[in-house]
Amino acid sequence: MARVNIPSFKLNNGREIPALGYGTWLGMDEKFGFSTSGIPKMVEALSYAIDIGYRHIDTAHLYRVEPEVGQVIDKKIKEGVVKREELFVTTKVWQHFHREADVEVSVRGSLRRLNLDYIDLVLMHWPMSISQDGVDEKIDYLETWRGFESVLSKGLVKSIGVSNFNVQQMDRLLKNCKVPPATNQIEINLNLGQKELVDFCHANKVLVTAYSPFGTMVPSRSAPNSPEPKLNNPTMLEIAKKHGKTVTQVTLRYLYQRGIVSIPKTVTNSRVLENASIFDFTLDEADVATLAKFDNGFRTVRPIFWQDYDNYPFDKVPEKLEIPEGLRIWKNGINSDID
Ligand code: NDP
Repeated sequence: MARVNIPSFKLNNGREIPALGYGTWLGMDEKFGFSTSGIPKMVEALSYAIDIGYRHIDTAHLYRVEPEVGQVIDKKIKEGVVKREELFVTTKVWQHFHREADVEVSVRGSLRRLNLDYIDLVLMHWPMSISQDGVDEKIDYLETWRGFESVLSKGLVKSIGVSNFNVQQMDRLLKNCKVPPATNQIEINLNLGQKELVDFCHANKVLVTAYSPFGTMVPSRSAPNSPEPKLNNPTMLEIAKKHGKTVTQVTLRYLYQRGIVSIPKTVTNSRVLENASIFDFTLDEADVATLAKFDNGFRTVRPIFWQDYDNYPFDKVPEKLEIPEGLRIWKNGINSDID
C-alpha cells in the first residue's frame, strides 16, 4: 500500500500538529439540509487516509459525522494501524453553545460521539453566538473563551483555538485571555490569501489552518462568477508540469510553504493520496510570485445569512438571506439524528 509522510508544525503550547489533515465536512444539499448519503464514502476514504499515514482529522459538531469518525478511529486502533496518541483530532463548538458553561456540555458531547477520552484541539467554530431559533444571543466570545480555558484545564482537550476570527477579534482575544488560542482556522486558498490575518496570527505565534483550501477551483464549488484559477488553468498547469505534480498538489504545497496547515476534504481514495503527496517538491520564488497573483479577496464560504449578527467577522454585502434550516435546527427538525 502507498504511504505518505506528513510533517508537523509546532503549536504555541509546544504540541505538534500534522501540516495536513483530513477534512470531514460533507457539505449541504440544495435545500441546505444535511445529506447523509456521503457518509459511507467518507468512512471508506478516512479509513484509507489513516492506513496510508494521515494522522490529523478535522471534524465538528455541526458536521453530524463525529460518530462515524469515532468508529473509524476505534477500528484503526483495534487493527493496530495507529495508536490514539499518534492521532490529532480536531472538533468544534457550534454557535448554540457559547455560554461559558455550555462549552463543556458541547465538548463532552463531542467526546461521547467520537468515543474518545480527550480531543487534541477544540475550536470555537465562529465568533457569533446564535440560538437554535436563530436568535442573536450576543454572548461575548471572551466569555465563550473562558469556557475553552476551563475544558483545557480539566484535561478534556489538549489544545484550544478559534475559527473564522478576523484580525480585530484575534487582537482582542489575545489581549484578554489567560491561554492564547493555538490556532485560527480560516478560509485560505489561491483567491483568498488572507495575508494580513495570516501575518498577524504568525506574529502572535498563532498557527493558521486553511479550510476550503481549493476555494472555487474544484467543480463542486465552482460557480459561474467564480474567478480563476480552475483545475484547467494554463498557468497552474504549467507550474504543475514543471514539478511533475497536479494543480491541486501545487495549491496545497503553496499553503505548506506559507507555514499554513491545510485540511482538504475528499471522499475519493486517489485524491486522499494525491493531496498528501506534496512533501517531496519545492515551489521556487517565481512559482510563489505567480501563485500570489491569484489573490483577489474572493470568498468561497460567504454565510451572508449571519451578517447582521454581532461579531460577524467578514465584510457585509447588500444581499439578504434567511439562515438555512440545516444550520439552525438541531432537534425535532430535519436534523434530529444528532444532538
Ligand atoms: P475543499 O477545498 O477541501 O474542497 C473539497 C472538494 O474538493 C470536494 O468536492 C472534493 O471532491 C474536491 N477535491 C478534493 N481533493 C481533490 C483533488 N485532489 N482533485 C480534485 N478535486 C478534489 O473544501 P472544504 O470546504 O470541504 O474544506 C475542507 C475542510 O475544511 C472541510 O471538510 C472541513 O473539515 C473544514 N471546513 C471548516 C470550516 C470552518 O468554518 N471552520 C468551513 C469549511 C470547511 P471529492 O470529495 O468528491 O473527492
